Amino acid sequence: MGDALPARAVVDLDAVAANADVLRGRAAGAAVMAVVKADGYGHGMVPCARAALAGGATWLGVAHLAEALELRAAGVTAPVLAWLVVPGQDLAPAVAADVDLSASAVWAVEALVDAARRTGRTARVHLKVDTGLSRGGATARDWPDVVRAAAAAQAEGALEVVAVWSHLASADDEASDALTLAQVERLHDAVAVAARLGVRPPLRHLAASSGLLAHPAARLDLVRPGVAVYGVSPAPERFSSADLGLVPAMSLRARLALVKEVGPGEGVSYGHHHVTAGRARLALVPLGYGDGLPRHASGRGPVALRGRRYAVAGRVCMDQVVLDLGDDDAARAVRAGDEVEVFGTGADGGPTAQDWADAAGTIAYEVVTRIGARVPRVHV
Ligand code: PLP
Repeated sequence: MGDALPARAVVDLDAVAANADVLRGRAAGAAVMAVVKADGYGHGMVPCARAALAGGATWLGVAHLAEALELRAAGVTAPVLAWLVVPGQDLAPAVAADVDLSASAVWAVEALVDAARRTGRTARVHLKVDTGLSRGGATARDWPDVVRAAAAAQAEGALEVVAVWSHLASADDEASDALTLAQVERLHDAVAVAARLGVRPPLRHLAASSGLLAHPAARLDLVRPGVAVYGVSPAPERFSSADLGLVPAMSLRARLALVKEVGPGEGVSYGHHHVTAGRARLALVPLGYGDGLPRHASGRGPVALRGRRYAVAGRVCMDQVVLDLGDDDAARAVRAGDEVEVFGTGADGGPTAQDWADAAGTIAYEVVTRIGARVPRVHV
C-alpha cells in the first residue's frame, strides 16, 4: 500500500495494540492511559488511539484540548485527559464533550467551574501537584489552596475531582532512582493533604513509560505510557524495546529518486562534507529535514537498502539525502525506485528511530514525533 509514493511512514496498528497489551501486563492492575498527543507521537492520533484501546488501554491522554476534541469528533468515547490549559481559554467545549482537564492552579479550577455553569454539566478535573519536575503542577505551598477551591466546587456539584496526579522528572535514569521514589512519596503526601481537606478522588497517577516500566511503586491506580505504546524504549540506557517485548510501530520508507555513477573525489551534498573515495553510485532518498529527519544526523543517519546499511553521505538537505553506495556488485544492482528503510522495527539489523536519535544526539521520541505532515502515514 502506498508503494508509488516517494516516501511514507507505515504505521503498524497491530504493533500499537500489542504494545498496549504488553504495557497493561506490566501495569500490574493499574489502568493504562495511552498518551496520543502530538498526533500520536507522529504515528497518527486517531488510528493509534483506537488501536491502543483495542489492545487494553482504557484511557487516552493528550496535551491540548483541541487534541481531545479531535478524538471526540472521530467518535472516540473512552475517557480522555487533556493537561495543558491557559488562562482565558474556553473550557466549555471540554466539559460538554466529557473531556477531563487538569488544574494546577486556582484560576484553572475557577475556569472549569465557569465552564460547568455555562454547560450545565459537572466538569471532571485531575488536580496536578508538582512533586519535583518543576514543570506543571501546584507547588506544595499552593497545593492546599488548589484543593480547597476544588473541594468547594465539588460540594456545589460544579466539579468532580477524578484524580490527584503528577509527572516524574528522571524515571529513565537509574542514577536518579532516589528522586523518583521521593516523587512517589510527595504524591502520597499530596493525596493525604487533599483527603484532610475533604477531597478523596478515586485515582492517583504519576508514571509515564519509564516510570511504569522501571518503578513499580510509581504505578499507583493508572499509568500514562506514551512512547512505549509506539514501541520505542523510553530509557534506552536501561532497556531496549526488544528487552521490553515492544515492537516499534513506525517504519519510515522511501523510494530512490535517482541513482547515478560519479568518479572519485566528488563532493557530495551541501558543503561537500562527504567526498567519494573512488568511483561510486550515489542514490537519492527523497526525505530530508523538511520531513523531520534530523540535520544533526548528517554523515551518520543510517538507511537500509537491499539488506545493507549505509550512512547518509554528507548533509541532510531539506527534501533529500544522498547515499554513497560505493562501487561493488551490490551498488551496481541498485536502481531508481528501489525501496529504502530509514528506520523501522530493527528486525534483521535494520536501522531504528533510536539509531537516528543516537546519530543526531537526541532522543527517539523526537525522531518519530517530528516526522512531518508531508510524509503520508499509511496505517496497516
Ligand atoms: N504524561 C505526561 C504528563 C506527559 O507529558 C507525557 C509525555 O511527555 C507522558 C505522560 C508520556 O510520556 P512517555 O512518552 O515518556 O511515556
